[in-house]
Amino acid sequence: MSGFQIARRFAVLWALVVACLCAPAGYAQTPVPGNSLSTCIARDTGQAATAMLADPAAFDCSTSQTDFGPGDFWAISQPFSRQSTEALPLTVRVASLWQGGLDLHIAYADGHVETIVADARGVTQRIQLGALVEYAIPPRDAPAVRLLWHVRESANMRGILLGARLSDAQASNRANLLSAAIYAGFAGLCLALLIYNFALWGALRHRFQLAYCAMVAALLLYSVSASGAMAWLMPDISNNLRLRVNYFTISLAAAAALQFMRFYFEPHIFAGRMDRLMKLGSIALALGGGAFFLFAPLHVRSMDMLVTALFVGCGLLIPAALWRTFRRRSTYRWLFTFAWAAPVVGVVARSMGNMGLIPWSFWLDNSSIAAMAAEAAISSLAIAYRIRVLSRERDSAIEGEVMARRLADTDPLTGLFNRRAFLVAAIGREGTQQLLLADIDHFKRVNDTLGHDGGDEVLRVFARTLRLCVPPDALVARIGGEEFAIVSDAGDPVEPGDLLAKLRRAPFPFDLRVTASIGTCSGPLTSEADWKRLYRCADEALFEAKASGRDRWRGSDTRFAA
Ligand code: GH3
Ligand code: MG
Ligand code: MG
Repeated sequence: MSGFQIARRFAVLWALVVACLCAPAGYAQTPVPGNSLSTCIARDTGQAATAMLADPAAFDCSTSQTDFGPGDFWAISQPFSRQSTEALPLTVRVASLWQGGLDLHIAYADGHVETIVADARGVTQRIQLGALVEYAIPPRDAPAVRLLWHVRESANMRGILLGARLSDAQASNRANLLSAAIYAGFAGLCLALLIYNFALWGALRHRFQLAYCAMVAALLLYSVSASGAMAWLMPDISNNLRLRVNYFTISLAAAAALQFMRFYFEPHIFAGRMDRLMKLGSIALALGGGAFFLFAPLHVRSMDMLVTALFVGCGLLIPAALWRTFRRRSTYRWLFTFAWAAPVVGVVARSMGNMGLIPWSFWLDNSSIAAMAAEAAISSLAIAYRIRVLSRERDSAIEGEVMARRLADTDPLTGLFNRRAFLVAAIGREGTQQLLLADIDHFKRVNDTLGHDGGDEVLRVFARTLRLCVPPDALVARIGGEEFAIVSDAGDPVEPGDLLAKLRRAPFPFDLRVTASIGTCSGPLTSEADWKRLYRCADEALFEAKASGRDRWRGSDTRFAA
């Protein structure tokens, strides 16, 4: 099955993952509940909240928020009229942004103004799942008619006050529940992928597995901070610290993703400049994320520009690298492209959002979760495919090695052990061993009669006969031209007389009568010295057999047997 076919199969799965993560948005829209409120901006020049509420004309409703630059601001909502009651308290949600504090002044129809003060820590305590800052509007007999935020120390990188929506406690709870389901699903997926791939790495030790685990671990941490769950776990930290963790973890995840890509493909795909570029990119991303974490409190806007620039760079690097995988025809190009389609689109969309080319939205803010979930799940399948191919390559390499070793160990003519392999296998056998040397009689004459090829065939038949009449754990080898050796346990020896009889009956070419002389000797065979002693002894016996007229055997233990 090709990578493309596998990619096509997993297309269905990809669609399912994305659908599962995004479907709630389609039908419920509940992570951003209620009615959207438009807002207008005014610079904070030390006025009082009541004065600002009394003078809506002081606000600028047309200038884009980011054009105001950083600083302290007032943001006023459009007028409305909604009653907050004990039974159904009203809530207002806004996006979480880098700021020093976000106080809310609520104007009621009866002229009363309620103030909720929230510094950066106070904001954390109001963070809901989905990373939205929520304020409960205190119940009152008169309806609330206008909201005024005092935005202190706004970095204004994406805006001053974004995504304001008026809702009620019930809808807010539903939104939290849905966000919890989305993020818990993502965290669960990450956790499962992390454990499974880490265990797999323990067994297989491919570098790309470790890079993948690092990426998923960083994503898991990112999902904890980005979802706002971190604010629930640590309500005393500043919200800006949570945002710093966001930048850091997503940068680490992107750095690990680049490393994963480097190691995942066949080594020749990125070899050279591209590999160095990807390595550099991942180091830069990790350092950039770290720099943001450390130095954002000093100058958040330049740190944000740094990280955004790095992400844009990587957003360009990944398609370039993918293009390379196609040009060099990697087996895994289709599957990988499929896995990365979503995050690449996500990174591009987010970067465009960061640069102000497309407006902020809850889904854009949280798109990385859906994209990364798709990527993590499909990459895990890509890993399974890569491992399958690697295992197949390894198996065939082992097979080739076994074959090569077997060829190096055997005598090509007869298929028996050659002298070298025979010695390796024979020396070290435990207990008393019988060594039997068999030498074909007058083989020169056989060659003269049948020719060299006929002689070869005689050698083959001779070898087959030997193999068939020795005990199963005996070793049989051709140790010279027409000289053979057998080593077997002295407790289960080869009977030389039987062997000679069988050889006499063996079907040699042209019914040629071929005989052999045999010398045997028994003794220990645990060392090279033992072998020399045993061989000399058996060779002497063989010499005796030849000298006594051939077609017979002699043994050091049973001398002069006929
Ligand atoms: P003896 O009974 O004393 O052992 O006489 P012999 O002729 O068998 O002994 P000798 O050692 O003088 O000759 C062995 C011959 O075996 C010589 C060589 O040409 C032949 N020979 C060695 N290797 C091969 C081979 O691979 N194929 C063939 N066809 N002949 C071989
Ligand atoms: Mg011979
Ligand atoms: Mg010989």
